[in-house]
Amino acid sequence: MSLFKDLGQGLANTGKQVAKKTKEITDTVQLKSQIATEKETIERLYASIGKQVFEAGEEEDEKKFFTEFGSIRKSMDKKKELEEELTSLDGCRYCPECGARIEKSSLYCSRCGAKIDKSKMDMEEQMRTQMEGTKEEEQEAQIIANEIESASADITIDIVNH
Ligand SMILES: [Zn+2]
Repeated sequence: MSLFKDLGQGLANTGKQVAKKTKEITDTVQLKSQIATEKETIERLYASIGKQVFEAGEEEDEKKFFTEFGSIRKSMDKKKELEEELTSLDGCRYCPECGARIEKSSLYCSRCGAKIDKSKMDMEEQMRTQMEGTKEEEQEAQIIANEIESASADITIDIVNH
């Protein structure tokens, strides 16, 4: 009799431990997320200070952050160059029929004469942008799911060892 009683007690304790562990995982995930938020805030403010220092362009800071200032200017030039390239590409569309490059304002393809349905093309572009957003959210959810999974694996090991 007492063996069954002990066994029952043991199972009840295991149940309590699982509940406790589940709460611990939730707390861990929440704390990690809060830490990440604070870290982002710190990084953003650091960046803000850096931007103000750069824009003020004090001679003393120019000397102190010689490498960084130079790298920022180089990246700014490169960014401008890339943006110009993007603008020139953005001025053109591609024919849905033959794939020829056509002016954004054109209503017909200059090669095959196909009618360009501009509203349809704009919709496709919107859908692509939306899908990219969803992808990022999915990745974030996957990271959290992985964290919970690895934490659950720890519990299983705990219970087995117990
Ligand atoms: Zn065409």
